[in-house]
Amino acid sequence: MNVVIKTSPVISVIIPAHNESQGIERSVKQIVDILTACINNAWEIIVVDDGSSDDTYQKVRALSQLDARIKGIALSRNFGKENALLAGLDYAMGSAIITLDADLQHPPSFIPDMIAKWHAGAKIVHAVKRSREQDSAWKKFAASSINHLISGLGGINIKNSSDFKLLDREIVNIIIHQLPEKQRFFRGLTSWLGFTEDYIYFDVAEREGDKSKWSFWALLELAITALTSFTGFPLRIITFLGMLTLILGFGVASDALWSLLHHQAVSGYTTIIICLLILGSFTMISLGIIGEYIAKIYDEVKGRPHYLISGSVGIDDD
Ligand code: UDP
Ligand code: MG
Repeated sequence: MNVVIKTSPVISVIIPAHNESQGIERSVKQIVDILTACINNAWEIIVVDDGSSDDTYQKVRALSQLDARIKGIALSRNFGKENALLAGLDYAMGSAIITLDADLQHPPSFIPDMIAKWHAGAKIVHAVKRSREQDSAWKKFAASSINHLISGLGGINIKNSSDFKLLDREIVNIIIHQLPEKQRFFRGLTSWLGFTEDYIYFDVAEREGDKSKWSFWALLELAITALTSFTGFPLRIITFLGMLTLILGFGVASDALWSLLHHQAVSGYTTIIICLLILGSFTMISLGIIGEYIAKIYDEVKGRPHYLISGSVGIDDD
């Protein structure tokens, strides 16, 4: 593989943004100040507008016209944060790439720390959430259950991890060229890679701009993607369900036989209803689980691109 490693800019910052018009200018300015203080000129910021319906992209264009190191990519529609991140990785030219949210919930003040850890030899620097005070109770609960489930079943450690990361160019090249999967869970993939990792710990700040851009369904979708792309364990649950019904079946069958042999009327109706309902629900659940995996296979097989770009500003064609 012939990968050209460009030396300038040194740091690329990727910001996925979906309807972030309210806060994007402020976020970018804050990041610019921190980067400039830390590494002078050798940086670029790429805002990936993930199909916003507000004027996020227009604002990015305006920023780019004032400062060519600020760049923008507009996706043709909302492809989701995972794909927006990937678009950013595809176009970033830095020797290290930092991904962070547009709402300043990933405090840019940690960027110098991350760069220091990178200089010290880490290929991946994960920013780990120390607290989730800003999240609602249900979101905390959902996030922690999903993270524990994936960490436990998928054998990768993503507890409290976030999409706020620094990746060395080597890692980015692997993600771009060697991990062609369509269904992505960025947080999990970066842990799965291995390599020298380091961590910084941050408190999730209050969201700038308006409310969270994730709907319940988008989060559920992400959770299912996360689970199905790292473990086939749910498929094994079906086998367990099968064994459970087998044991249940033995119990019910011996009761029926015993009654028959002793010339008693089989005590049937309730038993039949219960068996039917249990079997029915187990079958449905199993089909659902298999269906999820088939849906993922279907998406992979179609081989559609991760995202389509409808416009860009400041990005070099080559
Ligand atoms: N985002 C995106 N596409 C989406 C949803 C969100 O690019 O479909 C971006 C959003 O603009 C923000 C980041 O992903 O920069 C995190 O989103 P948000 O702050 O809404 O999520 P939360 O902080 O609640 O996890
Ligand atoms: Mg946020």
